[in-house]
Amino acid sequence: MQKGRALYTGKAKVVHETDMPDRLILYFRDDATAFNAKKRGVIANKGTINAYITAKVFSYLEGRGIPTHFLERVSDRELMVKKVEIVPVEVVVRNRVAGSLAKRMGREEGAPLRKPVREYFFKSDSLDDPMISEDFILADGLATEDEFEAIKEKALIVNELLLEMFQKASILLVDFKLEFGRADGQILLADEITPDGCRLWDATTLEKLDKDRFRRDLGKVEEAYLEVVNRLFPDFPEEVSL
Ligand code: ADP
Ligand code: UDP
Repeated sequence: MQKGRALYTGKAKVVHETDMPDRLILYFRDDATAFNAKKRGVIANKGTINAYITAKVFSYLEGRGIPTHFLERVSDRELMVKKVEIVPVEVVVRNRVAGSLAKRMGREEGAPLRKPVREYFFKSDSLDDPMISEDFILADGLATEDEFEAIKEKALIVNELLLEMFQKASILLVDFKLEFGRADGQILLADEITPDGCRLWDATTLEKLDKDRFRRDLGKVEEAYLEVVNRLFPDFPEEVSL
């Protein structure tokens, strides 16, 4: 398999075509953005850490019945994936109040919720990812009824599986963002699952171990990403070159 030209350069990754029409290579960069790219920076080794975490997490989910786009880790920073048509809806799953929900509802970050909450945002940089309703997703045809049912169900199952995985590493999964895509008439989990798109708190101290350290200038950003990958996957240091 040959890596081809870059099809798209995003805020955190570069998407490359390959010599196979149904496969892509995702190249994970160290670049970090926040507040719709108004804040920019670099987190050392983030690309390597995030590619590794995504590969491992997607394999774990795939092995537990969640179809994903992930095929193979081809280098420290590159994953081969199935090409999908991304459903332009960012699905956020929350186990505790934080971030935009805390702000919107005037609530303390960390407040518990009686059950997981799913929220939907239209994937649009120019519109700043506005929140959208389930009805709008269907009325506008962003997804069909069947697709959206599959997405909603998979989001909750992924949450249960990730809660368990992170809990074993003494990490509290506060919230996270998922993207889904269509390929061969199926809905696949796509994009990435990393500390860029999850809120991860130390289960005991509640210390933040995710991109909020960058967003809020809390320092020790790379250290937090390393802490997450090392706690989840103790083989990480032997399998990559930092
Ligand atoms: P952004 O687009 O938000 O700046 P990235 O830098 O992470 O984000 O860019 C990666 C892009 O690739 C995202 O737009 C994501 O939706 C898209 N993508 C992820 N997985 C796939 C896939 N399997 N097929 C097609 N596009 C994908
Ligand atoms: N998130 C993301 N990409 C986005 C918006 C949110 O990955 O464009 C993630 C974010 O890291 C957090 C969760 O989704 O884990 C919920 O984010 P929230 O709605 O609270 O927005 P924020 O305040 O982080 O912008």
